[in-house]
Amino acid sequence: MRSVVTGGAGFLGSHLVELLLDLGDEVVVLDDESTGRPENLRGVAEHPRLSYRLGSVLDAPLVSRTIAGADRVFHLAAAVGVRRIVEHPLDGLRVNLHGTENVLDACVAHAARLLLVSTSEIYGKNTSDALREDADRILGSPLVARWTYAAAKGLDEAFAHAYAQEFGLEVAIARPFNTVGPRQTGRYGMVVPNLVGQALREEPLTVYGDGLQSRCFSSVRDVVPAFVRLSEEPRALTRAVNLGGGTEISILELAERIIRITGSRSEITFIPYEAAYGEGFEDMRRRVPDNSLARELIGFVPRTGIDEIIWSVASTLGDPGVARSAEWGA
Ligand code: UDP
Repeated sequence: MRSVVTGGAGFLGSHLVELLLDLGDEVVVLDDESTGRPENLRGVAEHPRLSYRLGSVLDAPLVSRTIAGADRVFHLAAAVGVRRIVEHPLDGLRVNLHGTENVLDACVAHAARLLLVSTSEIYGKNTSDALREDADRILGSPLVARWTYAAAKGLDEAFAHAYAQEFGLEVAIARPFNTVGPRQTGRYGMVVPNLVGQALREEPLTVYGDGLQSRCFSSVRDVVPAFVRLSEEPRALTRAVNLGGGTEISILELAERIIRITGSRSEITFIPYEAAYGEGFEDMRRRVPDNSLARELIGFVPRTGIDEIIWSVASTLGDPGVARSAEWGA
């Protein structure tokens, strides 16, 4: 099997590339190194079945050349991270819309099957007990930069669906929820590596707002194998599938656990949203997945608890290329 991974030098992408190589695939990475780092692939850099192309998904001819001859494509390249989106909304819109369109065109032209990696962010402010895939999207104003990511990724899904309907593209869509693990950086906002880094440096842990907002963190170790299974499951075609963690936790409790697990002497400091992300920032109060479709289709059950997730980040922070998901926790 020849697989292309866009965004293959990123956090999720690098773990996926390693898994595909383990499975015997020939793997081609396309990454513009905007948030991805080639060091993330250090452990497989010399692998004979891996090839690496530095370039952007905005470069349509390059995308087409890269996908030519591929059996399947995993599209992970995206401008991600709340901090990055708020600071550079235009970049996010361009990469996440036009880049995806280029990937869709190339997959149709070269008859490659696609796994589009979307996001739980598309549910926006819907705080339902357990978000099913058909839940309504509740987005804020299109003039609020934070929502441009959810808007663009939602349109990506609509695009993918339309390409399936009109061109017969074979596509499945994954919606990961707050996936965490080694190699993730806190630089673009992600809360776990950010707070873990603060705890290890004995700095105050910055909890935004009142800290009672909640998430269900999932582990890269559970989510990345699910990408592969989804790409191989015929019943997943033209569907969007949640991949989330099993336990809801408030950000305040997360910070307390991080302090405990790292043995840090740091304290917790509350930062108003305006100070963190600028005037008018809106957070998601709560985001809880219903994983039953993923369980039914591919037997997905999140097995990694929050303490192990925190430890996987704390024990590897600042050292990309280590901690292959197949190895840690063993
Ligand atoms: N957050 C926080 N401190 C930080 C970074 C993030 O309290 O240093 C909060 C953020 O406001 C949100 C939650 O943690 O409520 C998750 O943020 P992240 O950016 O990781 O993911 P998302 O908001 O996309 O779920």
